[in-house]
Amino acid sequence: MSPNDLKRYQKKLEELVSDIENYLKKSKESAAAVEPDKGLGRLSRMEAMQDQQMVLELRRRKKRQLLDVKNALKRIEQEVYGSCLFCAKTISIDRLDAFPEVQTCVNCA
Ligand SMILES: [Zn+2]
Repeated sequence: MSPNDLKRYQKKLEELVSDIENYLKKSKESAAAVEPDKGLGRLSRMEAMQDQQMVLELRRRKKRQLLDVKNALKRIEQEVYGSCLFCAKTISIDRLDAFPEVQTCVNCA
């Protein structure tokens, strides 16, 4: 991979880190437990709990992605970024453009 490409992915990954960290900060409140006596009716409390579940699930996914993104930044430093973790083949640019944090090629995914 050319140094320019590497720089481009590094920038993308750093943006991802701040996007995800922002989301995690912002969603903290919605992920907090639904208060039982918020004056919500039975139905809206159920909705609030469903929303909370969705936020929790999304936060779980984002946290996992954040680890992957930070890992990818480490791999750039170690000059192994863009190679598949399993077969060591080069990961396609298309794939990296869509998911810059991926560690595996299409075949090993
Ligand atoms: Zn592979």
